[in-house]
Amino acid sequence: MPPKSRFEKFLKPNDSLLTRVAAEVNLADINSNDISKDIAEIFLVARGEQGEKKTLVGLAAPQIGISKRIIVVDVMADGKGKVGDLRLYINPEIVWKSETDGEEWYEGCFSTAQVCGVVSRPDIIKIRAFNERGEVIEEEYAGYTARIFQHEIDHLNGIEFITHITDDAKLHWVEKEEFPDYRNNGHGGIGRINVRERSG
Ligand SMILES: [Zn+2]
Repeated sequence: MPPKSRFEKFLKPNDSLLTRVAAEVNLADINSNDISKDIAEIFLVARGEQGEKKTLVGLAAPQIGISKRIIVVDVMADGKGKVGDLRLYINPEIVWKSETDGEEWYEGCFSTAQVCGVVSRPDIIKIRAFNERGEVIEEEYAGYTARIFQHEIDHLNGIEFITHITDDAKLHWVEKEEFPDYRNNGHGGIGRINVRERSG
């Protein structure tokens, strides 16, 4: 069999692995061949999807079939199409978040196909994680970057962004080519889709 293309590596939206809690990485294994291979794979897919259209701002390992607590986040992403600093976080945790939800903004996901929506999330978070050398990382993020971390860490807990949406009017059907405009500018897409019937 030929090797899978990058896009085929994304699990289909109905894959049960996407709703599973991913396994913590044992710190003693960070330098193992297995974890190095996983990390290389995650970067390969993520960088590939940052290509011409630069749509990817974050990726969680389970989305490509690796059920481990590893994510990448582009900390330069501004929600307006800018990317350029994709970083790796192992066993990331949100250790503090602001009490009130920040502004709502538009999210999509490689694991929900054309289903997108408006999600309200805390505006400021502090995270704790490990880098690929096993060193502790403690950082604080606000706004759009904080949103990406929350979205990706949710994936590690088997939670997809649509779980946070209680109002069906905030769910939208967005074709792939419309997505950058939807996410960056907050328009496009057909509202009021009944996605709840589609999800298992
Ligand atoms: Zn996602």
